[in-house]
Amino acid sequence: MSTESTKLAFNDGWQYAPAPESTDHISIDEQYGLFIGGEFVAPESGRYFETVNPATEQTLSSVSLASAADVDLAVKAARKAYNGAWSKMAAADRGKYLFRIARILQERAREFATIESLDGGKPIRESRDIDIPLAAAHFFYYAGWADKLEYAFPGRRPVPLGVAGQVIPWNFPLLMAAWKIAPALACGNTVVLKPAETTPLTAMKLAEVIRDAELPPGVVNILTGAGETGAEIVNHPDVNKVAFTGSTEVGKIIQRSLAGTDKKYTLELGGKAANIIFADAAIDEAVEGIVNGIFFNQGHVCCAGSRLFVQESVAEEVVRKLKDRMETLIVGDPLDKNTDIGAINSASQLETIQSYLKVGQDEGAEMYQGSGSLPEQGYWCRPTLFTGVSQSNRIVQEEIFGPVLAIQTFRTLEEGLTKANNTPYGLSGGVWTDKGAKIFKMTQQIRAGVIWANTFNKFDPTSPFGGYKESGVGREGGLHGLGAYLKLET
Ligand code: NAP
Ligand code: MG
Repeated sequence: MSTESTKLAFNDGWQYAPAPESTDHISIDEQYGLFIGGEFVAPESGRYFETVNPATEQTLSSVSLASAADVDLAVKAARKAYNGAWSKMAAADRGKYLFRIARILQERAREFATIESLDGGKPIRESRDIDIPLAAAHFFYYAGWADKLEYAFPGRRPVPLGVAGQVIPWNFPLLMAAWKIAPALACGNTVVLKPAETTPLTAMKLAEVIRDAELPPGVVNILTGAGETGAEIVNHPDVNKVAFTGSTEVGKIIQRSLAGTDKKYTLELGGKAANIIFADAAIDEAVEGIVNGIFFNQGHVCCAGSRLFVQESVAEEVVRKLKDRMETLIVGDPLDKNTDIGAINSASQLETIQSYLKVGQDEGAEMYQGSGSLPEQGYWCRPTLFTGVSQSNRIVQEEIFGPVLAIQTFRTLEEGLTKANNTPYGLSGGVWTDKGAKIFKMTQQIRAGVIWANTFNKFDPTSPFGGYKESGVGREGGLHGLGAYLKLET
């Protein structure tokens, strides 16, 4: 279908009827305390801040602003729980608590998905089918490891590290909390976790689940707050391990502040993934993969396929099909089950994306955007692609964290590989080809932690995840993810 005919179809009113998820089944408190020592407590400072729905700009709730004093209380509660019940408990019993959390998350999946979409702006289809099921899967997976750690590391004696300080971003709020909490607890650590400022609500709901699962008080503590709160957690002297997911900029600050301490750390940072399409690829599937790679979750994905490299002989066809597909993408209400692209997470992230759209045009690239309508209220960005870019352009080198794709071409495999590796990042990549030999060659030589072949953005708790170069240090997920929370004694 040509772009013209697709537009006609749209203009003729060929549209899905709205299919909004209801909000009748959820409850959000007007205000949340900090979850310390198994209960919700008021912040020392008495200060709160609001979290808004980015699709409507309406306030959903207010949450506590944790200060240094609250961080200290939380770390003390975590230490007490570590020295007390948690480290003395049989490993199989630790596993039972994790299984319980996993099951409650499954039972309350619809409520979690709805709140995730309300607070963060992601389409309900994603929070329902990806974020929440994967979060539960992480708890199930690590629950199974709790009493089998000595089999994971034969000949070594695995010992927990103590108190883990964990700081997470806003793009996969509950899932990132699960990635952090599940392996830490399975290995016998206790935690203090801070969600991102703009997406605290599913973390507060998770605190309720942890309370309902009757975990010993202090095993998990959840503090809402700002970047300073994160820094207080990272720099608290009684924290043994730091796990951070977020920007490379903040990751570097954290790495500097940890230098010279004996804290163990993992950093999951930014990315600028290459999606590489060879002429022999199944082009229609590849186009779907590109769309999924960059427009999924509004491009708020560290491993988003934000750089596309197309073999020259099929470049015209791929770009034409991509533009056609972009015309059919629905941007709008995150709670509508038909929505493909939800709201940008915050006003400031929208500003960042818009500034990059300007940079791209100023650099001389050609910009193309889907033409569908946008809601009046809220933060939105049309799916966008740039052609006519070069390797040195900022939109090719820097992470935009929005639904913005930069397209380049290549002739030979070597040229594709060289261009793909020309980035300070190395989190993920994608290869599309009919030939197994090309897949092996490319996947061995792309310097990135995760590489997909003929698919993109697939996640599984059994698979390790993490970056090369400025994309981070260490691995989360799978067996590798256990090692990050243990000392291995001989
Ligand atoms: P960010 O500023 O690095 O924030 C991530 C988390 O760290 C948030 O909870 C944040 O708190 C906290 N934080 C901020 N400054 C801190 C400090 N000095 N010490 C300790 N914690 C601190 O990232 P973001 O603004 O949420 O996201 C923007 C960028 O993050 C993206 O452009 C992308 O590069 C990167 N990102 C990467 C991933 C990944 O999985 N690799 C995921 C999401 C985002 P506040 O929320 O209060 O600022
Ligand atoms: Mg919010």
